[in-house]
Amino acid sequence: MIRTRFAPSPTGYMHIGNLRTALYEFLIAKSQGGKFILRIEDTDRERYVEGATDVIYKTLEMAHMPHDEGPDIGGPYGPYVQSERKNDYIDYAKQLIDKGEAYYCFCTKERLDSLKVETSHEAVAKYDRHCLSLSKEEIEENLRNGVPYVIRQKIKEGTTTFHDVVYGDITVENEEMEDQILIKTDGFPTYNFANVIDDHKMNITHVVRGAEYLSSTPKYNLLYEAFGWEIPTYVHLPAVMKDKHNKLSKRNGDASFQDLIAKGYLPEAIVNYIALLGWSPSVNQEIFTMDELIKEFDVKGLSKSPSIFDIDKLTWMNGEYIKKMDAESFYTWAESELKSAIKRDDIDLKKVAGYVQSRIGTSKDIADMVDFIDKLPEYSTDLYVHKKMKTTKEMCLEHLKKILPVLENITQWDNDTIYNSMLTVIQEMGIKNGQMFWPVRTALSGEPTSPCGASELAELLGKEDTIARINKGIELLSE
Ligand code: GLU
Repeated sequence: MIRTRFAPSPTGYMHIGNLRTALYEFLIAKSQGGKFILRIEDTDRERYVEGATDVIYKTLEMAHMPHDEGPDIGGPYGPYVQSERKNDYIDYAKQLIDKGEAYYCFCTKERLDSLKVETSHEAVAKYDRHCLSLSKEEIEENLRNGVPYVIRQKIKEGTTTFHDVVYGDITVENEEMEDQILIKTDGFPTYNFANVIDDHKMNITHVVRGAEYLSSTPKYNLLYEAFGWEIPTYVHLPAVMKDKHNKLSKRNGDASFQDLIAKGYLPEAIVNYIALLGWSPSVNQEIFTMDELIKEFDVKGLSKSPSIFDIDKLTWMNGEYIKKMDAESFYTWAESELKSAIKRDDIDLKKVAGYVQSRIGTSKDIADMVDFIDKLPEYSTDLYVHKKMKTTKEMCLEHLKKILPVLENITQWDNDTIYNSMLTVIQEMGIKNGQMFWPVRTALSGEPTSPCGASELAELLGKEDTIARINKGIELLSE
């Protein structure tokens, strides 16, 4: 059975690239009836962020990617948490020492620093295997005296070749690799060690992760070999880019999943968009439900060239998802935006929701679109001039003056009545519809565009405000 795992470090936010990794892991598993496991990689205690695990949980929940198993904590499964398994890793590292595949290293920081060589970017050092030649007695004495130590992997000579589903066959000379640290002085494993132990113990069949781990993979394979374990299938994913040269990175201020949600994007749209960020379906389709993704997903469609995160494309897709929401769900989602943009209590917010739903890319577009409702903005009478409808300021003034008493006489203030009354005047005057609707719409909104037409606006604003705004239009056009 296919088993994949999402292994985020708890950083406090969900990077878009990480979420995409999780999605592909989820899809690889689910498209073949497999299991998707969640593992929190928190062995880097210096980077530990309180509450960060909840962010991971919440994101997977919102993205509809539930993980399948884990320690039973009641309700949904808990994830596997590496820090809770600390002693396991030490035991495994000791097994490697016994097999001659790893060794204790007591080198001090000063000694390691002295090995560093300045390069153009940074000071780098390849460990010189000083402690590999310590005698058994020296090691035992150091351990007895409590000298701090790390455990290092002993990289053997030769070459290592492995296959990656996305990048193909890769071969590296082992001498290019350092005897990496498996267990740190604080007793915690490094990621490099823990991921191998856990992937094996959790029977992970497909390891899906960012291509930044590609260069370390040969070292992991040497560990699998040292233990005599089966090597999983590797699927490394190219980075998600902000532009041609820079990776998308939260640290550089690029949006995380949480940021996008806060900016008014829907989880479903984000998931759909990132599914296509580096994967091409075999069908010519862009909008996919999760079930459709599960049905359609195939690793053959994964690309090894990095993809650029295009916020405009995401916004378009978000708009498509917004349009498809039923009225009730849309209102619930947009309610807080509507309420903070419209403070008047005589406005039917559900109606406003209905007008804006098909016109927005994110919920943050709402405020701009409806802020004229509370207060008519100051506007230029140039707005009355509409080329296509052939309206002039003089004409608009005349038409507003004509419609004002008609509106004042309406007793049943609803869209149909208002619309029909306007239509009667239009027909009497023998003008085009737009030559009446445009000036009225302009007078009511003070904006070049509005989420609904003249009669709908009038109904929304109520009779009193409608009359006042038309009077204001007449006043401005008479100046
Ligand atoms: N903890 C690693 C990360 O967050 C996971 C890498 C992996 O999936 O193996 O980048």
